[in-house]
Amino acid sequence: MSAGAEVAVDAGAIAARWRAVRVAVDAACVAAGRAPAEVTIVAVSKRHPAAAVDAVVAAGATDVGENYAQELVAKRAAVGAAVRWHFIGRLQRNKARLVAGQVALVHAVDAVDLAEELGRRARAAGAIQPILAAVNVGGEAQKSGVAAAEAPALIAALRAVDGVRLDGLMTMPPPADDPEVVRPAFRALRRLRDELATAASPLPHLSMGMSGDFAVAIAEGATLVRIGTAIFGERPPA
Ligand SMILES: *Cc1c(COP(=O)(O)O)cnc(C)c1O
Repeated sequence: MSAGAEVAVDAGAIAARWRAVRVAVDAACVAAGRAPAEVTIVAVSKRHPAAAVDAVVAAGATDVGENYAQELVAKRAAVGAAVRWHFIGRLQRNKARLVAGQVALVHAVDAVDLAEELGRRARAAGAIQPILAAVNVGGEAQKSGVAAAEAPALIAALRAVDGVRLDGLMTMPPPADDPEVVRPAFRALRRLRDELATAASPLPHLSMGMSGDFAVAIAEGATLVRIGTAIFGERPPA
């Protein structure tokens, strides 16, 4: 594949940063008394070319996250390797068909009608779509997520939707220079999960933590950390 107009990809630099992130994630697990196998790194490749995904997969990544439905579809077609794709952005209902049945997990479901559309499309493809419920635990301005007070009702409703399986919760606090600022949000998400988990629906996954705060998120129980910049470098402008 020719580089064309695309930003050149430095596969060696991506591989080195991937290894450094893996080491830091493993260290955060050990510091928290957790097994490194409990935490999956979702390499967030939004706005980076497919060649960057090829590079991180060659370095050992198994899970890749995208924010925009069309970009996910195009990159998925361009990436040769078997990858578990994650849709981590805010999904419009009219884009659900592009994602349903195509990704391992949809992280940021904050409305029942979106889940119903995902379920309908997944069933048509002969699949069940795993999802997470997005919760704005901190109450700050966030791109997605229902308020914590609304979470029990959302979760009860999502559990009843055909064609999807609710696997846990996701949150995305506004980035802060000091990761301690976001610790209470991560802790609150875990508490919410512990309160709402049932034997039939244990909500095993907590998707929380990004480049600047994944160690704190892991200390607070994250099972999926969504890491972009620390792996791929600065994102090209949109
Ligand atoms: C972009 C993005 C990330 C990754 O952010 P970095 O700070 O680059 O690690 C994680 N989660 C979501 C939902 C994102 O949109």
